[in-house]
Amino acid sequence: MFQLAASFDAQQAIDAYLGSVSGAIRDRSDAYDEGQALWGIVSFFVGLAVTLLLYQTGFIKGLRDGVEKRMPRWAAVFPFFLVYTVVSTVLTLPLAVWTDHFREVQYGNSTQGFGAWFGEYLINFGLSTLIGGILIMLLYAIIRALKRTWWIWGTGLVTATIALLMLIGPVFIAPIFNDYTPMEEGPLKEDILNLARAASVPADDVYVYDRSRQSSTISANVSGILGTTRISLGDTLIRDATPAEVKAVMAHEIGHYVLNHVYEMLLSVAVIIALGFAFANATYGLAARWGGARWGVGDIGDVGGMPLLFALFSVFMFFMTPVTNTMIRSNEAEADAYGLALAREPDGFAAVSMKLGAYRKLDPGPVERFVFHDHPTGRDRVTMAMNFKAAEIAAGATDMDPAMAPLVPEVERYVAGREAGRAAKSAD
Ligand SMILES: [Zn+2]
Repeated sequence: MFQLAASFDAQQAIDAYLGSVSGAIRDRSDAYDEGQALWGIVSFFVGLAVTLLLYQTGFIKGLRDGVEKRMPRWAAVFPFFLVYTVVSTVLTLPLAVWTDHFREVQYGNSTQGFGAWFGEYLINFGLSTLIGGILIMLLYAIIRALKRTWWIWGTGLVTATIALLMLIGPVFIAPIFNDYTPMEEGPLKEDILNLARAASVPADDVYVYDRSRQSSTISANVSGILGTTRISLGDTLIRDATPAEVKAVMAHEIGHYVLNHVYEMLLSVAVIIALGFAFANATYGLAARWGGARWGVGDIGDVGGMPLLFALFSVFMFFMTPVTNTMIRSNEAEADAYGLALAREPDGFAAVSMKLGAYRKLDPGPVERFVFHDHPTGRDRVTMAMNFKAAEIAAGATDMDPAMAPLVPEVERYVAGREAGRAAKSAD
């Protein structure tokens, strides 16, 4: 026992795991991650530019006058929103096609052809436009009735809608895009259910969804609230991860559940929406005056100011990115710690974190991490896992693998296989 404790060097194990994703593969993963951040910024500015264009050309003013001439003011909100959303979505479509489809294919993440991707994109667009349109009609009714305090009541409305969508999401929305089936009976399922029982999670089933239909990336999640909460894992996780890794991931997901992260996030989201609405409310008059007669935007209840309200809200959210990312990241770190203690699979957790490093930057600088990363980095995760293992070994735990980094070959095999698949795809 004593010799074992002396022979495990956490730092050496961390370096061994981090070294398992290296060379051209590491460069490509870094480039993908940096590009994600860059294209996110580009999309934000393109969105603002499109709004500006639609105001400057008089399109929005004309649209507002057109719909309000044909119907009562309250009813005009929906057609205005619909036409504006369709036009701005069409104008930004080339960018979305690049960032969400072709770029994902280029990096070997997407498994879809363009037609399949675009079909899902249209379903998504239709659903969000329908739900968004109803929400916006209600929001404008609130704005027009309560010009000073609308942002408080509006926050309640939007948060309640998000909660409702979370409730019905796993039952009505997720099955549109993927098939969810109970996991096949076997020792791995038993292990996962045992983890759930040990954490007092009232789950009697684990679901598998056909993530491979859209993506080659590995994933699992907790979705739903109240009665619809469920833990699901992608078929890619079962395909590409060893049982030790699957258990580590599922213990992390159970951690989110046990630590009530869904409710915590809902509360945080409400606070951020309230601040965003307050910001939009405070800056709206100034921006409308700046636009002048060419924009023709009236007071805050004018539907012609809707794109302006959206733009101001998006500016607020853009600058809040480091804050929201840090909120999510700290929840993720909590789930990591919980999951390690529950599953006791530090090597499995380290290995799967390296596999994620095939498309997430493993070791970004501190500023980059703070601003752009909504999950602990690969380095964060392998460090936590190996420190846990070192502490357990030092405390005399007998269930820890005494080898330094036993799953490094497994990670190398996965990364090489993924690389070969990507190369084969770009050759045809
Ligand atoms: Zn998580």
